[in-house]
Amino acid sequence: MVYVANKERYASMKYNRVGRSGLKIPAVSLGLWHNFGGIDSFENGRALVRHAFDLGITHFDLANNYGPPPGSAEEMFGRLLASDLKPYRDELVVSTKAGYYMWEGPYGEWGSRKYLLSSLDQSLKRMGLDYVDIFYHHRPDPETPLEETMMALDHAVRSGKALYVGISNYRAPEAKEAIRILKELGTPLLIHQPRYSMFDRWIEAGLQDVLEEGGVGSIVFSPLEQGLLTNRYLGGIPQDSRAAGASVFLNEGNITADKLEKVRRLNELASERGQTLAQMALAWVLRGERVTSVLIGASKVAQLDDNVAMLQRLDFSADELSRIEAILN
Ligand code: NDP
Repeated sequence: MVYVANKERYASMKYNRVGRSGLKIPAVSLGLWHNFGGIDSFENGRALVRHAFDLGITHFDLANNYGPPPGSAEEMFGRLLASDLKPYRDELVVSTKAGYYMWEGPYGEWGSRKYLLSSLDQSLKRMGLDYVDIFYHHRPDPETPLEETMMALDHAVRSGKALYVGISNYRAPEAKEAIRILKELGTPLLIHQPRYSMFDRWIEAGLQDVLEEGGVGSIVFSPLEQGLLTNRYLGGIPQDSRAAGASVFLNEGNITADKLEKVRRLNELASERGQTLAQMALAWVLRGERVTSVLIGASKVAQLDDNVAMLQRLDFSADELSRIEAILN
């Protein structure tokens, strides 16, 4: 059936300004790392993307290597753009990245100009796009001079293939340097994409200050710790969950008794607030307005509804915050 977007899609989503830029992105963005590969159901991916857009999620995050196989998430998204979302292209913020292993030989990963610019061309082809809204360097490269990597990002913008640039997984000192170089080049760094959740708080120790000083936004990945910070694993490992699949990042070994005990206690506190744990975990990430957007994943449409509904209760009392600290420490 022809897709017609929900007329009310902008009624309840919150849009946050990205650093000191002119761009706003939704407080909740959708990532296509899992559930959109060649091994996954196209119809389920389609239902997720349509529903997300209907909820006001205008930002979709990809990378060259998302799949499996690598590249297939961009291909699926390209099919979805062609079949459903093309009329809405100017309402979308599409991002992609290059940095991790993508193809054989010395030019298929890391941070050289050679790799980044050819990877961007490949991504555009797979998605059937003329440009992406944000092009990221996916991880720092210890060998390539940072100037070269940043000049490649600057070139992507000047050649019209990206509107803005981002970096991901950069530590505070590297991010500070990237901000300085890009400013000099005349293409300010728009956004940083680090990992951040109740269980992984490294960005609080320096990176957030660097981004604020530089006027750079942040979109944080795995805010639900890949599903652990939800009610998903409270009764064991469900068959259809990420941990039961082939993921090397979340599996039975990571779901320790200690973590599950914390999850149980957080879940109780969330119910007292009238929220699900997923909702409380996302609202907590957005507390104090230091984070621009939570970058979630989803395998089911109902998870999108659950997650977006957290916007109805973003505030925390001082008592709730200190009880959360006590559980996490
Ligand atoms: P999350 O922490 O949001 O985990 C998503 C998973 O949690 C879902 O697939 C689902 O798992 C479960 N889930 C989501 N909502 C609910 C809910 N309401 N109730 C119960 N379970 C729920 O994020 P991801 O780890 O998926 O990462 C999100 C995005 O971040 C990626 O798609 C990618 O775009 C980006 N990313 C970037 C990285 C980088 O290096 N820059 C690295 C990793 C991710 P299940 O499948 O079990 O249902």
